[in-house]
Amino acid sequence: MSNKASNLFSMTPLLKAAELSSLDGKPAAIGAFNVNFYTQALGIIEGLKKAGGPGIIQASKGANKFQGGAEHIKAMVLQAMQDCQCTIPVALHLDHGNSEAASACIENGFSSVMIDASHSPLEENIQATLEIVKKAAPKGVSVEGEYGMLAGVEEDIIHETTTYANPMLVPYFFDETGADALAIAYGTSHGPNKGQNLSGLAIHIVDQSYKGLKAYGQNEKHFLVSHGSSTVPQDLVAEINQYGGNLKAARGVPMEKIKEAIASGMRKVNIDTDLRLGITATFRKYFIDNPGIENDSPNVLAPIKKVLDENPGTIDPRDYLKVIDIKLLRKDPAGTDLEDVMALIKPRITAHVAMLVKEFGSAGLASHI
Ligand SMILES: [Zn+2]
Repeated sequence: MSNKASNLFSMTPLLKAAELSSLDGKPAAIGAFNVNFYTQALGIIEGLKKAGGPGIIQASKGANKFQGGAEHIKAMVLQAMQDCQCTIPVALHLDHGNSEAASACIENGFSSVMIDASHSPLEENIQATLEIVKKAAPKGVSVEGEYGMLAGVEEDIIHETTTYANPMLVPYFFDETGADALAIAYGTSHGPNKGQNLSGLAIHIVDQSYKGLKAYGQNEKHFLVSHGSSTVPQDLVAEINQYGGNLKAARGVPMEKIKEAIASGMRKVNIDTDLRLGITATFRKYFIDNPGIENDSPNVLAPIKKVLDENPGTIDPRDYLKVIDIKLLRKDPAGTDLEDVMALIKPRITAHVAMLVKEFGSAGLASHI
């Protein structure tokens, strides 16, 4: 459903377009990209535009807090859409919300929310998800749940190992909750150290879950989501390490495996780490290419340089960008100390997003919605 006032779409028509393309023999998934600041949003939207692909822009609880709340993130994303005259369908989604954050985002004009109650037993998870669906559905806001637990670090939660989703219970989860999308734990993990290729078991879980949706006639209304799907490009890791970083064993999901998951029924693919790596690499190279520039900018660039120098493994931009005036990140950095580096960041994000949208098979799907 389109929210005309804001030009934002719920995820449902986007994911349905990917499903219809897949049923038509052209497997497709919609990319979901995490944002923290304005230039990142602008870069993502320009990438979607370039590929003609609809897309999901998502912000976690932490990203909302970083930008001063859900209403600020929404204003930032709408501003970025307006600034690049974006006419392609975009959903604004809360990533990994709890009940409180999901409710706040529904109230503040997000077009989609995730309620992640996957740490609770299944029946409690279903109840928590259902409560959010009841609040979201009347407003045309789509809801994503999570079933099973991914390994890795997500915000402040760390899981050592994966607790796999049981494919037989996926249609049941949708039936009981009415959720639009479901992240299933199938073997990917959060963060830059994914450490393993996706096994045959992983693809089997996707395949069986999707077959269940089809068997129950749910597949055009309910969709599977892949978290922890960054490819962690090794050239970015090398660039970060070349310019003073020290990322060890950083490894993502190979693109062929993501495509295999899409061909098996995944319709939303989350990307966060890849963009973080590109932003970090750009900042690191910028300081090396412009020696001493931080001395001209004691309030903005100097604190960023200091955090990067002290944290060679850092990849979350909020770890270094949080030290500066947050207002600088909610608007175009023209005329600010960040202007030059943001001008370098934007085209890299745009190129990476456009490449991923093409690889995910959703380039050109914007005109189908
Ligand atoms: Zn996730």
